[in-house]
Amino acid sequence: MEKYEIVIIGAGPAGLSAAGVLAEAGKEVLVLEKNRIIGPTICAGGLTTKDMDIIPKNIVDAEFNHLILHTVKGTYEIDLGSHPVFTVSREKLGQWMAKEAKKSGAEIRMACCVKEIKGNHVLVNGCKEIGYDYLIGTDGSNSLVRRYLNIPVKKTQIAVQYISKTQRCDIEVFLDDFKNVLKYGWIFPHSSFTSIGLGGWTRNAAMLRRCLDGLCDKLFVERTKLEAASINFDYRGFVFGNKFLAGDAAGFASGLTGEGIYQAILSGEEVAKGILNKNYGYPGIKHLLKVKNSQEKLLHILSINRCIPHIVFNSFIPLLLKRRNLCRMVNNKYGLV
Ligand SMILES: Cc1cc2nc3c(=O)[nH]c(=O)nc-3n(C[C@H](O)[C@H](O)[C@H](O)COP(=O)(O)OP(=O)(O)OC[C@H]3O[C@@H](n4cnc5c(N)ncnc54)[C@H](O)[C@@H]3O)c2cc1C
Repeated sequence: MEKYEIVIIGAGPAGLSAAGVLAEAGKEVLVLEKNRIIGPTICAGGLTTKDMDIIPKNIVDAEFNHLILHTVKGTYEIDLGSHPVFTVSREKLGQWMAKEAKKSGAEIRMACCVKEIKGNHVLVNGCKEIGYDYLIGTDGSNSLVRRYLNIPVKKTQIAVQYISKTQRCDIEVFLDDFKNVLKYGWIFPHSSFTSIGLGGWTRNAAMLRRCLDGLCDKLFVERTKLEAASINFDYRGFVFGNKFLAGDAAGFASGLTGEGIYQAILSGEEVAKGILNKNYGYPGIKHLLKVKNSQEKLLHILSINRCIPHIVFNSFIPLLLKRRNLCRMVNNKYGLV
């Protein structure tokens, strides 16, 4: 049986960042990816300033210094000051990360779907056995490794988006609690397309799609390709003996905003460092969990009563936007941009 020190399932941002760190340290690493191309996935590709510490600026599609925020009560133009936001094509991000991981010595095998996990090996494409000392599950929100570990997923969001050819100049965010379901919407312009979507704390994807269609009609946005996926934000640990979870598989994504690229890259790196050094204290994951907990407390408050989002979206946020210092304080606590 073929064997590697570390087998990583999934070549998304979490898997590729883990692979890069481990290979750089001289470990024998194999990444197994079920798709034939690295990168393309259902995602709006929005990045914030903190991503720029780990992603080179030359691969981003666009940078925005202003954000247009729509609430039921009004539209606000927010000057982002020293916290610009960006969009990136997931294909470009994936290709860049794969190149870096390979440069460090990681092996990435495409069209390799892991069908089954055993105590010391995985079964690829239903027949080939590959052994491991350590297994890292970076296989996304619907993780096979997580299911093998018997860890339930109870907290998810659904996000639906259209990939549109309609060009938009501004990055826009919508806050709404239509039909008693808290939702956020976005328009994220890229260099050759625009992502327009809605995310919500509901299992009703059809309702989200209807709302998204309404938004597209209102804004005269052409709809080319519809995509939908769930985002797991149910974190329940990441170290399970010689098996690890990172990224969406571990539930590191933000429960409040659906943001998960940064969390995936950071948690992948941290898991790799933990394999290299048994005494590693995971400072990055500790910080990430602190912000995540604050965000989920806020989400909980917003969900207690339907009046609360109305007050927050339509009175508190406009007031907040007038007070720069208060705005900065809230952003620091909840890590929004
Ligand atoms: C509509 C939508 C919009 C989003 N917008 C944003 C955004 O603007 N900004 C942001 O930061 N985040 C966004 N996210 C979240 C972000 O996409 C994820 O958090 C991020 O991709 C997580 O990275 P990951 O590496 O953990 O998993 P993924 O990117 O999901 O990668 C998992 C990989 O594992 C592979 N895989 C799965 N199962 C197997 C298997 N059995 N065998 C082999 N390979 C397997 C998959 O093919 C995939 O390549 C969005 C999500 C959605 C659904």
